[in-house]
Amino acid sequence: MLLVLLVGKNGCTWTVGSVSVNGVAIPHKKITWEDKARLSEGNSEIYYSAGNEALAAEALQILCAEEKIIQETLGLKPKKFGIVLHGPMVPHEYEPIVSCPPTYTIWAVAMLVRTNGQPALLDDPKMYGTMTHERTEETLTDAVGKNGLYVANPQTRWIGDGLAEYLAYKTCRTLSPATSLRQLKNRRSNLDDMTMQNFNLLIWRSPSRHLLPFTGHADESWAKKELKKLGDQAKFYAQISGYGYAMSLAFWKDFADRHGEDVLKKFVGQLTAQSDLSNKAICGLLETMTAENVYDHCQSINIQKAKDILDRAISEIEKPAQEKAIK
Ligand SMILES: [Zn+2]
Repeated sequence: MLLVLLVGKNGCTWTVGSVSVNGVAIPHKKITWEDKARLSEGNSEIYYSAGNEALAAEALQILCAEEKIIQETLGLKPKKFGIVLHGPMVPHEYEPIVSCPPTYTIWAVAMLVRTNGQPALLDDPKMYGTMTHERTEETLTDAVGKNGLYVANPQTRWIGDGLAEYLAYKTCRTLSPATSLRQLKNRRSNLDDMTMQNFNLLIWRSPSRHLLPFTGHADESWAKKELKKLGDQAKFYAQISGYGYAMSLAFWKDFADRHGEDVLKKFVGQLTAQSDLSNKAICGLLETMTAENVYDHCQSINIQKAKDILDRAISEIEKPAQEKAIK
């Protein structure tokens, strides 16, 4: 997911400035967590300023619930993970930069302001969805190893980013159905303009390695050069990137629905113990558990079927709400 989390070299923060990506200047400002108050429980922590104690407690509850859902679903214990509350942001303001400690990440989550002037973060897709997504990714990367899931093995994005999408869907649905609906409709609309009929999940690549200003290596001139070099290729990956989130969510949702969520836990357990991390071998794990030809299926996922799966997920949330309203 393309979100701003920028850590400067040697852990120092960037100075305020702007980064140019594809000719668009993106302003950045630095945000600090070292001088904030801290609340923590389990491996979750919240940094906040005076006056926002109630909101920090609420955010901590959400983060702890997300930690629990990830652990229950994947059987992996999420490592330390923090957020710093900031804002409220002004319209069109870009995400701030957080300087992270060396061993774990801290994300910035903006507060909203209610009409009564009270700060709030309720129903924030970032708090419920994105934080679970990122934390799942970190947990999986930690367990499988960076070279297995991301850096040297980019064809496994459907696992790292895919399971992260599924977990984000699950926490949203559990903790904030209204947010879940918004997220699902957003993902579903990603597929509207797809002109092809089938999607190869196994070639889904991250554009973020080509768009490093967004992802954590703060060397602007290097990034500019790389972008220029990549040209159309970067554009291609950036374009299919959005489809991949929706397609992998549909894949894992369907998979968990048909085989039960315990299969995910079993799969992740075997994945972390396995040395062959080719897609063929990884699909083999799922094939042994389900007697389905996952390898072939993943290379040609029918887009209409994926749309149907997401439509069903949307109606699973909308229908009970309608039934409640009638009673
Ligand atoms: Zn991601």
